[in-house]
Amino acid sequence: MSKPDFWNNTKRYYDFKSFLVNTFGCRVYKLQIDAGFTCPNRDGKIATGGCIYCDGRGSRLRQEGPLPSVGEQIVRAKQLFRRLRGAEKFIAYFQTFTNTYAPYETLKELYDEALRQEDIIGLAVGTRPDSISDDVIELFSEYARDSHIWLEYGLQSAHEKTLRFINRGHDLQTFIDTVTKTAGRDIYICTHIIVGLPGESHDDILKTARLVASLPIQGIKIHLLLALEGTALGTLYKAGKIEMIGMKDYVNTVCDILEILPPEMVIQRLTADGYRDIYLAPEWGKRKLTVINAIDREMERRDSHQGIKYDR
Ligand code: SF4
Repeated sequence: MSKPDFWNNTKRYYDFKSFLVNTFGCRVYKLQIDAGFTCPNRDGKIATGGCIYCDGRGSRLRQEGPLPSVGEQIVRAKQLFRRLRGAEKFIAYFQTFTNTYAPYETLKELYDEALRQEDIIGLAVGTRPDSISDDVIELFSEYARDSHIWLEYGLQSAHEKTLRFINRGHDLQTFIDTVTKTAGRDIYICTHIIVGLPGESHDDILKTARLVASLPIQGIKIHLLLALEGTALGTLYKAGKIEMIGMKDYVNTVCDILEILPPEMVIQRLTADGYRDIYLAPEWGKRKLTVINAIDREMERRDSHQGIKYDR
């Protein structure tokens, strides 16, 4: 099997930037929005501690003071991206905490406000698979008739023991049910998985990737597990109770994952970044570009590409 022509890129995987250029014929950027949501895994509805790796601070904007409106955030971010990157069109990315965790009318107002802004061609909305109602899925389905809609459902691991350990507050079946309900409505579904979770073997994370590959999912974000100051995971790390994955192992694992994902699946992320002020480990993970280059080199060394081992 050779690399698919429709990627129209020089990479060995179908990166998000290429997907957007192929789909819209111009430079499209995601604008990060903090619409002031909370998370049911932090506010007591499901749990109070949150996922063990979550720092719970929200966006930098939120840490600085009262949040500007969604419209204002979009106007400011657009100016910046136009100036720095020559961006032409934008996707409003509701990123912070659980962005479907509010009454239907509140959600509709916030999403409508974003879609009304000039040059916004769609939405990306990050959420938990247990925190979206059928009505809200239907709302996104209506938006998808005229706009480009991504729903991002966090999974992190397909293993119940890991989901319990990281305090996700939902099980695998909830994720599968929500993906199944969302599919077939012109909504693009993206999921997040984490590489390097304590107690997981190489085979465990590949099983998670195979599960993702088997579902009607169009995009994936592969994250490196980070130990951050102020998180439960950070405390475990400082007490010497967990080990962080090494770079060579991470790079190999990500390449193995890419090989078993469908060639059509859009790769939105290959590692983690940010959190400079509270970053504990792994040290090598701070160098995002070095990690991505190492993944590119390893795929090249293998003479491999995304989907080469995908089992349809
Ligand atoms: S679901 Fe997201 S926001 Fe909520 S605790 Fe977990 S990582 Fe944090």
